[in-house]
Amino acid sequence: MSWTSLRKTIVPVLTLVALASPTFATAQTALPPQIEGHELTQIGPGYYTFRNKGLRNVFLVTSAGVIATDPIEPETARLMREEIRKITPLPVKYVVYSHQHWDHVRGGRIFKDEGAIFVSHENCVPHFRDLPDPEIVMPDQTFSGDRYFLKLGERTLKLRYLGTNHGDCLIVMTPDHVNVPFIVDLATAGGMPLPFIADYSLHNWVRSLRELESWDFEQYVGGHGVALAPKNRIAERREYIEALLIETKRELDAGTPLANIPDAVAARLQGRFAHLRGFNGIVRDNVRRTITYYGMGW
Ligand SMILES: [Zn+2]
Repeated sequence: MSWTSLRKTIVPVLTLVALASPTFATAQTALPPQIEGHELTQIGPGYYTFRNKGLRNVFLVTSAGVIATDPIEPETARLMREEIRKITPLPVKYVVYSHQHWDHVRGGRIFKDEGAIFVSHENCVPHFRDLPDPEIVMPDQTFSGDRYFLKLGERTLKLRYLGTNHGDCLIVMTPDHVNVPFIVDLATAGGMPLPFIADYSLHNWVRSLRELESWDFEQYVGGHGVALAPKNRIAERREYIEALLIETKRELDAGTPLANIPDAVAARLQGRFAHLRGFNGIVRDNVRRTITYYGMGW
């Protein structure tokens, strides 16, 4: 595989349509109700994870400034900047978007106003153009291909694109000096997926999780939930999605009436996955989404 060079894109002047802010949480997982407030956790030298309520990001402090990631929303970005100021007087030089979903990428304006360069995979740009939000800063630099090294000072943040999985522009980020990747929305530790797993390509989700399982690391930071998750949570999520696909297909092939399939599959998955947070409230909607997925020809 060859490294592709980061390509500067000319940011068009956009007329941003003022859309109503979402009033519902678009978090990937049913979150435990006790997640309130914000917190900063140091993962390694210069490597931090910041959480506000149910959402989480990482940032990297270097001798030449800061590489931040998902700004989440304006208040979270403001709180994150306060925490960064306690660590370094240097500015945020880069903001890297993990993917295009609004719940992770709104709020970057305060960093843009201070001169930060915004980075994403190039596939995110059409999404931002199609559904503009005045709180989303358009990327200044995008990359194509499967990887890019973002260097600042003595540090490098490795960006990896695994293909279509959760949307089509999600990247996994890992500092070169701390082997703890930032993996957003693919495997939130201990939880269930969102009920309708909207723009997940289920087979490609499984493929991406298998690829992550082949990587050499022990813990990761997710976009929601705990600061550090053990790697085996990725296999757990992959096994759940595989079981969902297999058991739903089994019922479809057997001719089970569609209305009966959610309960039938839920009963089959109960034994292996009932410990996942939110299982009973979500599994049947996951099955309905999977029926639709097969019905559309996958
Ligand atoms: Zn997402």
